[in-house]
Amino acid sequence: MRRALALLAAFALATGPTLRAEAPKAPADCIFCRIAAGTAPSRKVYEDPYVLAFWDIRPRAKVHLLVIPKQHVASLKELDELPAEARAALLSACVRVAREEGILDSGFRVIANSGQDAGQSVFHLHFHVVGGEKLREDAITRDPAK
Ligand code: AMP
Repeated sequence: MRRALALLAAFALATGPTLRAEAPKAPADCIFCRIAAGTAPSRKVYEDPYVLAFWDIRPRAKVHLLVIPKQHVASLKELDELPAEARAALLSACVRVAREEGILDSGFRVIANSGQDAGQSVFHLHFHVVGGEKLREDAITRDPAK
């Protein structure tokens, strides 16, 4: 019995870091972490235990909101580091804020720029929810200068 317990303890020690889901470290200067923590200002439109939604500081459509997880992950590439509840809450919040801003039926677009080629500029996962007017059809395009 003692031998079995010792083996179990050794196994737990050996596999601990991979089995434990540790929250990734956020950079100290992450602006969206500061908004989520309430230490930087935002025009908040929705909040629940997992996500926050607020107006983009430089709106590029009549409605331009950002939906972020409160837990820091850099981009969609790290989505699996979020708990399932947060992943579900993110998409639900996109639909919810679209409804609350009155753009659910007229149409809206949800965009997540991920990484360099997509032009991501803030490295805390966020979904742009845009609408309120006719959007350009070709938002998925290649940079003509390249
Ligand atoms: P992306 O280029 O996809 O990473 O989008 C980042 C977005 O964050 C841009 O649309 C910015 O205008 C927006 N943004 C940056 N700083 C803030 C801020 N402090 N409050 C609200 N939106 C911000």
